Amino acid sequence: PRLFIEADLAEGRVLPLERAQANYLLTVLRKSEGEPVLLFNGRDGEWRADLVPNGRKSADLRIVARTRPQPAPPDLHYLFAPLKTGRLDYMAQKAVEMGAGTLRPVFTRFTQGERIKLDRLRANAIEAAEQCGILAIPDIAEPVRLPTALDALEPERLLVFCDEDAPVADPVAALRGAAGGAPPLAVLVGPEGGFHEEERALIAARPNTVALSLGPRILRADTAAVAVMALVQAVLGD
Ligand code: SAM
Repeated sequence: PRLFIEADLAEGRVLPLERAQANYLLTVLRKSEGEPVLLFNGRDGEWRADLVPNGRKSADLRIVARTRPQPAPPDLHYLFAPLKTGRLDYMAQKAVEMGAGTLRPVFTRFTQGERIKLDRLRANAIEAAEQCGILAIPDIAEPVRLPTALDALEPERLLVFCDEDAPVADPVAALRGAAGGAPPLAVLVGPEGGFHEEERALIAARPNTVALSLGPRILRADTAAVAVMALVQAVLGD
């Protein structure tokens, strides 16, 4: 198993496990003494540690050696309009699993709700990283309104705008064509209520943007997230 742990990681350090993590290892996974556990803290790479149970319900981890160096964080910005909690949890995890390096909540005219729990977003990002062996925990950017988010993108960053009104064309060719020079990327997925036409005009006015159709049907936003991130990762592989 791989655990995210907010602690400095160094050979020989003994870290007491939080109750929930100890329970997960000892009871859920039924790990026993000396079985290796992989640890990461998002900045010092990945380390192997031995499980040292102390009592039935708690355990320590004795750090043994580093197994992987800390990689550079992926440079893909995933911009999204907040969704209802369950769907937002899912969308955040899938975006991270498929290479998002920054999660940027964007408030648009038709976004449901005006609040988003950033600590919940970070917890989802960490859970996805634990499951997928991602060592660089994505940044959770401050939520901003769409115009601010667009202005914050560097001019050279290619914005892949998921647009259900874009002509249904070959998304692979569209992505390859737009991302010829391997620019840094951003992906934008709208709210369940879609974008206001003034927002569409704003997005279209941004020079380095490709409006991408994900096919002839209207997808739910979290479905669109998986579709576009799978395409971007497969075609422009990062
Ligand atoms: N305009 C939609 C409607 O008429 O129901 C509402 C938006 S759709 C439910 C949510 C978001 O998913 C859209 O803003 C868009 O970013 C993305 N999306 C959905 N279907 C898509 C498609 N076929 N191609 C590209 N993006 C799509």
